[in-house]
Amino acid sequence: MIVGSGCAGLTAAIYAARADLNPLVIDGSQPGGQLTTTGNVENFPGFPDGIDGFSLTDGMRRQAERFGTRFVGDAVVDAALSDGEKRIVCAGGTYSAGAVIVATGASPKLLAVPGEGEFFGGRGVSVCATCDGAFYRGKIVAVVGGGDTACEEALFLSTLCPTVYLIHRRDTLRASAPLRERVLANGRIVPVWNTAIDEISGGRTVEGVRVRNVVDGSTATIDCAGVFLAIGHTPNTQPFAGCLRRDADGYLLRRENSFVETDIAGVFVAGDCADPVYRQAIAAAGTGAMAAMAAERYIRRHGDGRGNG
Ligand code: NAP
Repeated sequence: MIVGSGCAGLTAAIYAARADLNPLVIDGSQPGGQLTTTGNVENFPGFPDGIDGFSLTDGMRRQAERFGTRFVGDAVVDAALSDGEKRIVCAGGTYSAGAVIVATGASPKLLAVPGEGEFFGGRGVSVCATCDGAFYRGKIVAVVGGGDTACEEALFLSTLCPTVYLIHRRDTLRASAPLRERVLANGRIVPVWNTAIDEISGGRTVEGVRVRNVVDGSTATIDCAGVFLAIGHTPNTQPFAGCLRRDADGYLLRRENSFVETDIAGVFVAGDCADPVYRQAIAAAGTGAMAAMAAERYIRRHGDGRGNG
């Protein structure tokens, strides 16, 4: 059983299905994972002209289906995993398997400020410029964050919007040099350094943000019609809190000297739910393949839990 249908889960499914392991994939709340909300993916090997994220995952899914993978449109809420028992509890039912690959990915972090929840999803607060940017054509918007994602979001929005405020809590961007340089050279992107958002406000939709300079404490209002959050991710591992070891940020921990094994025999991890460092589609696909190969070895040795070796 593979929990999650992003790049890691789908790659694991392709490998597991081709190895005749009869995999069942629990789709999760966002079938296809984070890539489905990514515009052009330029760094996945094999696509010299880039490929849009949806097409990439759709291809992986069809490839997994071609070899016999079954999919369940449900999301995990709890898990009972031990050396002897492997059960995944979803809203619509409970599933068991001889081996489990956890590939539940990560979700965008939120700011937790007043107005964010009220305006989230269609009313001015978004976590995906490539999905929602077109609604803000010709309008002033703000992007929050200083990493690669924030820079990519700001650059994309600068093709649609006359002004893109890039609001960052420090005075340097942590993004990689090429992205950083493109952002700082872009006449439509206005960095707002050392600044935190205290409130997102508006009427029916967002009209502005109240900001605070974290160095001198001064406050101001920035008028904008959209706020794009790009402040990192939280791993989707809460359902496994009772049975798998996690680090302080919630990322699943692997056994020492293993890329994909956990402390529990027959339970493996793949992709962003166990990767606080690289978080790349290609890295997720790589660990998905490794997890399926490790699961195959485990099942061949221990059986599939139903008496089949
Ligand atoms: P990230 O690198 O963790 O950056 C998050 C940014 O948000 C940081 O600048 C951080 O500030 C800021 N932040 C975090 N919490 C905040 C809060 N509560 N309030 C305000 N600001 C907050 O996340 P990411 O940009 O999503 O990137 C994640 C990973 O994906 C990285 O490894 C990145 O290299 C990779 N990525 C790669 C590409 C690419 O290669 N094209 C594209 C996108 C992402 P501080 O800087 O002060 O910590």
